[in-house]
Amino acid sequence: PAVAAEPEVTVFRSKLPDIEIPSHLPLHEYCFARASEHPDAPCLIAAATGTTYTYGETRLLCRKAAASLRGLGVRQGDRVMLLLHNSVEFVLAFFGASLLGAVTTAANPFCTPHEIHKQFSASGARLVITHSAYVDKLRHDAFPRIGDAALTVVTVDAGNTPPEEEEEGCVVAFWEIMASADEAAVPEVSISPEDAVALPFSSGTTGLPKGVVLTHGGQVAGVAQQVDGENPNLHMREGDVALCVLPLFHIFSLNSVLLCALRAGAAVMLMPRFEMGAMLEGIQRWRVTVAAVVPPLVLALAKNAALENYDLSSIRIVLSGAAPLGKDLVDALRARVPQAIFGQQGYGMTEAGPVLSMCPAFAKEPSPAKPGSCGTVVRNAELKVVDPDTGLSLGRNLPGEICIRGPQIMKGYLNDAEATARTIDAGGWLHTGDIGYVDDDDEVFIVDRVKELIKFKGFQVPPAELEALLLAHPSIADAAVVPQKDDAAGEVPVAFVVRAADSDIAEDAIKEFVSKQVVFYKRLHKVYFTHSIPKSASGKILRRELRAKLAAAATA
Ligand code: ATP
Ligand code: MG
Repeated sequence: PAVAAEPEVTVFRSKLPDIEIPSHLPLHEYCFARASEHPDAPCLIAAATGTTYTYGETRLLCRKAAASLRGLGVRQGDRVMLLLHNSVEFVLAFFGASLLGAVTTAANPFCTPHEIHKQFSASGARLVITHSAYVDKLRHDAFPRIGDAALTVVTVDAGNTPPEEEEEGCVVAFWEIMASADEAAVPEVSISPEDAVALPFSSGTTGLPKGVVLTHGGQVAGVAQQVDGENPNLHMREGDVALCVLPLFHIFSLNSVLLCALRAGAAVMLMPRFEMGAMLEGIQRWRVTVAAVVPPLVLALAKNAALENYDLSSIRIVLSGAAPLGKDLVDALRARVPQAIFGQQGYGMTEAGPVLSMCPAFAKEPSPAKPGSCGTVVRNAELKVVDPDTGLSLGRNLPGEICIRGPQIMKGYLNDAEATARTIDAGGWLHTGDIGYVDDDDEVFIVDRVKELIKFKGFQVPPAELEALLLAHPSIADAAVVPQKDDAAGEVPVAFVVRAADSDIAEDAIKEFVSKQVVFYKRLHKVYFTHSIPKSASGKILRRELRAKLAAAATA
C-alpha cells in the first residue's frame, strides 16, 4: 500500500553551528567541569552579607551538602524540597542533592501552606530545606508531623522561631550538620542522562502550576546551548558577575543565571529578594556585568529616577525573559544603561528546559537583532510554527503555534502522562501554546499565548501588544488587557490601568491614545483604573485573575 507522504515541514535552526554537548555528564560535573582551572575565582556572592565563596570553596561545600543530605537519609532518586529565597544554601542544597542522584523541587516561600503542600506531595519529597521563618507553614494540618519519617525539616538560619516542644531536635540546622559533614563520605552513584535532576513548577499563569521533570542530560544540553562552544550564544566568562535576583525556584533564574554562570566560570551575586535600592547597591558594589531581568523589573527600572545615583557602568548585558517586553520600555531603560547590549530577550518555558530562543546580540561574536525579537532558536535544536487548528507547518512570517524539538526539553509532566502526550507529540515536538512567527532573518517573535488571544468577531487581538502600547504612555504606570464578554462581538478588549503618580488621566484619553495606533478591532472598549496589576513571582501578568474579576462583576 502507498504510504502517505509526510506533509512538508519548515524547520528553523540556529545560525550558529551545532556544538558537541557532553550530555553524558551529570549536571554537577558538567557545571563545575572547569572549576579546577580557576579555584580561587569568586563563585557565589551573598549580596545580603557580602560573603563570597570561591569556586574551590563552593565545590567543597557542595560535597559537604551531599554528605549532610545523605546523613539525613537522602538516597538516589529521592526528592528534596527547597523553600528558599535566593541564597548560598539554595545552591549548595541543589548540587548536594544532584551529587547523590536526588532530585530538587523548589517552591516559592511566599506560597500558602496549601500550595506548598500540593508541590510537596506531588513531588513525593520527605525533606524540606527552608528559612526558620517558614517552618510554621510546614506545621499546617496537611503535612505529616515534623520529625516523622515522612517529613524532615532543615533550616538554613539559626532562626528566631524555636521548634515547638514536641518537635525538639526535629528541625535540623543546616550549617550545624554541614560543620561535621565529611566530604569524603559522598557515595559514588551512577547517574544516567535520563535521570531527573529538578522538578520545577510552571508559573501558574494560565491555570494551576504544572510539575515538570527535567533531567541531567536535558539541563546539560540546555546550558550548553547557551554558554558552550567557540561562539557561545550567551557570552559569559570568568570575571563576569551575574545578577541573580530573579527567584531560583523559577527555571529561568536556575538555568540561565545560576547554571549558565557556573559553567562559564562567572560569579553569581545572590539577592534574597527584589528590593530596588539593595539591587542597585549590589550592582554597583560587585560590578555586575550580566543582568537577567523580567519585564516588571524593566518597568520598575525604567520609571525609577534613583538609577541616576548609582554607577551601573559595569553592566554589559541585560537579558529579559519570561514575559513579553514592549519596545518603548526597552528604549526607556536603554537610555539609562547606554553601554549595555539591551532590549534583547530570551524566550523560555519551563517545559522547554527552558530556553527556546536567545538573542544573537548576546553571543561572543554578536550579530544584531530587531526590537521586539526573541532572538533565534538555540543551537542543537529545531523550531517550527504550526497552524493551531490544522497542525500543518507554516513558513516564514506566518503566526502560529511555536513547537520545539531538541535534547533540552522536559522528559514530561510530573505524574501526568496524559498531559505529557498532549504537549509532546509522537515526533518529539513540544507544543508551547504560544503564538509567534519567524521572520526572514530567522528571528522569533512572540505574539501571545494561544489561550490569551482575545477574539473580537473573527479577529484576533493579542493583549500583549496593547499592553506594550499602554505602558509607553507617561501617565500610565502599569497596565493589563483582558477580554470581556460581549453579545455582539463575542469578546472585546478592555484594560486595567494603574495611573502614574500625580496623573489623573481619564478613560477617554486612554481609549483615544490606543485607537490612534491600532486597527479598529483592537480598540479598547473599557478602561478600569486599579492600584496594581496582579503578577506571578516570575513576572507574568495574571490575566486570569483579572478575567475572574470581570466575570464576578458581570454576575453580581
Ligand atoms: P503556566 O504554564 O503554569 O500557565 P507559564 O506558562 O507562565 O505558566 P512558565 O513556564 O514560567 O509558566 O512561562 C512560559 C511562558 O512565558 C511561555 O509559554 C510564554 O508564554 C511566556 N514567555 C517567556 N518568555 C517570553 C518572551 N520573551 N516574550 C513573550 N512571552 C514569553
Ligand atoms: Mg506554560
